[in-house]
Amino acid sequence: MESTNTHTFDLVVIGAGSGGYAAGRTARDFGATVAFVDKGPLGGLCILRGCMPSKTLIATGDAAYEVRHAAELGVHSSAPTVDFPAVMARKREIIQGFADYRIAGIDTFPVFAGEARFESPHRLRVGNDVLEAKHFVIGTGSVVAPAVIPGLAEAGFIDSDAALELAEPPKSLIVLGGGYVGTELTQFYARIGVPTTILIRSAHLLSGEDTDIGAGLTEYFREEGITVETHAVVQRVSVRADGLKVVHYQQDGVEKSVAAHEIFYALGRVPNVAGLNLEAAGVKYHNILGVTVDETMRTSQPHIFAVGDVTGRFLLVHVAIQQGEVAARNAVHDAYEAIDYSLSKTHTVFTDPQVAIVGDSEKELQRAGVAYVAASTPFNDHGKAIAIGKTKGFVKMLASPLDGRILGCAILGPDASDLIHEMIVALHYRATVFEFMRIPHLHPTMAEILTYPAEEIAEKITSARPLSIAQ
Ligand SMILES: Cc1cc2nc3c(=O)[nH]c(=O)nc-3n(C[C@H](O)[C@H](O)[C@H](O)COP(=O)(O)OP(=O)(O)OC[C@H]3O[C@@H](n4cnc5c(N)ncnc54)[C@H](O)[C@@H]3O)c2cc1C
Repeated sequence: MESTNTHTFDLVVIGAGSGGYAAGRTARDFGATVAFVDKGPLGGLCILRGCMPSKTLIATGDAAYEVRHAAELGVHSSAPTVDFPAVMARKREIIQGFADYRIAGIDTFPVFAGEARFESPHRLRVGNDVLEAKHFVIGTGSVVAPAVIPGLAEAGFIDSDAALELAEPPKSLIVLGGGYVGTELTQFYARIGVPTTILIRSAHLLSGEDTDIGAGLTEYFREEGITVETHAVVQRVSVRADGLKVVHYQQDGVEKSVAAHEIFYALGRVPNVAGLNLEAAGVKYHNILGVTVDETMRTSQPHIFAVGDVTGRFLLVHVAIQQGEVAARNAVHDAYEAIDYSLSKTHTVFTDPQVAIVGDSEKELQRAGVAYVAASTPFNDHGKAIAIGKTKGFVKMLASPLDGRILGCAILGPDASDLIHEMIVALHYRATVFEFMRIPHLHPTMAEILTYPAEEIAEKITSARPLSIAQ
């Protein structure tokens, strides 16, 4: 019988992804002894199969699109051809570099390679090693949601992992799901020449966003030749005699179908808790909603914390990092610092045009019964955007009618993921539209567009309440 080695640390972190790594690094900075457990491959979802590989591929799709549309700026060239193996080789090399850098950081800690399994609230087994700790952080991430559509498993499909690793592009593609993973990778494949159809149950892509944002993006997708079928309720999948995969769906009560060479299943992710034996640790969780945590990132077992995708909140890297840092501070100092998502719920979608949202959306304000004033400015009415030929989309600002405090901003447009940072700063300092208008904006720049809805809201508020605080 093999012997068991017992090790003791202040903090043991299960999963060295974005959230777990942030927790371990922060705790060590405060002097705690920290070990990681990870089943590998090391690097985390963002670097290996998420943010970074997807953005690397999207850059290729966007370059192909720019070449095709360069004639609008008076530059003529033949239609671009895409060297898919070269695209994938570039992606692999870039990702390897990011992963190597992260692994070098992880390797400065004791690392136990293998699947973690709780034996009790204070004992964690990894192969022949047993780790005991004052505190644990669970950061095991998420996995692709199980595919429950009849016939889909038999027909075969790709998920986001596979969509980032194909040896050659599919000849045609059906995408199930219109969230950010689905839209970003669909547009990449469409832009390198793959005929693509997206099927979604909702009225527009990005169903969680305000209608003007989601419907706007849907229209732009259609304009560039991507078929988007809305209100499409998928029933089953079959395979034709010629090998094409067929998705059968119902749309407004009518039975329809669409066929393609491949199906991309992009219907979300679920928390990864399999094998952790959370019951033995006394940690409560839900298979879809994730590990239950309070605002200090503590689970139902106060010395065990959970961070990142496994908590089911937002599924974004910057949130996983914020949660990891809060958990580490609370663990090391036995503190009760509460996490604040009001700004970190900011999110972006790297389609073209991009989407970026900070603060509250109209949907959220309406649900909460909060009064607001809204103003939008389209990019096709903005000098710099017209000059550089990037006129898709608009910026929308929402502010309180009482004092003009900015409550939220949504951008559908070029470089939205960068432009939104000015608005994050504005919301961080609880700026009003009146203060925002006094901030100098260089001319001609894309960022200048943000001043126009601010001015419009300021006018609306002052004309409604001439003697208000607004002046
Ligand atoms: C295609 C795609 C694109 C994305 N793009 C973006 C983006 O642009 N911006 C953004 O903010 N987010 C993006 N995301 C989401 C982002 O990648 C995740 O929110 C983030 O990486 C989650 O980090 P994490 O620390 O929770 O988990 P992970 O990074 O997944 O880390 C979990 C770690 O736990 C380990 N592990 C799992 N189970 C066990 C076990 N039982 N025992 C031991 N170790 C275990 C794993 O090996 C892994 O290293 C994207 C996701 C996808 C799929």
